[in-house]
Amino acid sequence: MSSTKADLAKLSREEEKLLNTLVDKGRRETKPQRLGDVIVYQGLEELTKETGDKEVKKLLKTLTSKGFMKEKDHDSALFCPRCGSINVLSRYNCPHCQSFNVLRIQLLEHPFCGYIGNRREFDTEKDLVCPKCKTFIGDFFEAKSREQKDKTKIIKVIGSSFACEKCGSKFEKPLVAHSCEKCGANFTYLEAIYEKLPSYELTEKVDELAPNRFETDSLRHIEKILIERGYNVELGAKLVGKSGIEQSFDIVARKGNNVILLDASPWGNQNDLISLLGKKMDIDSKSVILLDLAGNPNLASLGKPYSITVLDGRDEKYRETLIGLLEGAGKDEDDKRRSPLRWRGS
Ligand SMILES: [Zn+2]
Ligand SMILES: [Zn+2]
Ligand SMILES: [Zn+2]
Repeated sequence: MSSTKADLAKLSREEEKLLNTLVDKGRRETKPQRLGDVIVYQGLEELTKETGDKEVKKLLKTLTSKGFMKEKDHDSALFCPRCGSINVLSRYNCPHCQSFNVLRIQLLEHPFCGYIGNRREFDTEKDLVCPKCKTFIGDFFEAKSREQKDKTKIIKVIGSSFACEKCGSKFEKPLVAHSCEKCGANFTYLEAIYEKLPSYELTEKVDELAPNRFETDSLRHIEKILIERGYNVELGAKLVGKSGIEQSFDIVARKGNNVILLDASPWGNQNDLISLLGKKMDIDSKSVILLDLAGNPNLASLGKPYSITVLDGRDEKYRETLIGLLEGAGKDEDDKRRSPLRWRGS
């Protein structure tokens, strides 16, 4: 394995969140989809709502350059150069006067009876019908296709040209102009944003480094739970211990006299527990939690004699367990008991 824990350190919080979202949904690949006037990647709908489509695109690119995602050719699309919307209409206009009032003149032949005439003469509401022999021809694209075996239904396109209704000029190729449905900007192919829309796939690096979840996203959930219960929360906090050494914790939460120290262990490594124990002794806190994101079954029993609560981050119930612990602690405070935070069941 070439990937190391150091690779993870290179990820921003937002990049982690994106990867977590896909990992949590069990999605290995994400393809771009048009949703309203933006491009939304499958599985990343909520993230796009939160951070915007441009930011998500940027994150996918940086994750690719960091080796966590692989880019694959998928599609291309045209965007408004003013507002970035994908809701763009295309129209033909006159190369002489730029009017949109252009008519296409298409000359068709019905070889079955030999009639040659303007397309408009063949058009009925939906299908084509020969104006001379009255044969029902049907769909235009089927009729001009080589696959059409029914000889009575074959149509040949003799020629196409355009005519401007405003200035009266005739021409073979119109200019193509785009207009944005959202902001109303008119622009040509020269100004349009034409971008590749790749699909993305998680790489092996993600499997190696985060079989379940990345750290920061989980910490954010815990932060939210603590804040909702009136705690003052600091992520990546440093405290000076009795030894005079600065100890760092993934989360330090305070409420009155209660101080909760929490570290996350992304791979359920025993050393993370030992390191937390060392810090616990230096800081002298009774409320110490290790969030084990890998769900190592041995850690909980190892932590018990040292009064370190180990939460199994792989089991979604760990949030409820944490809430239970916090609410138990609240009750203790009301009862004015001696422990700043009493853990249930310990
Ligand atoms: Zn005919
Ligand atoms: Zn014209
Ligand atoms: Zn626009």
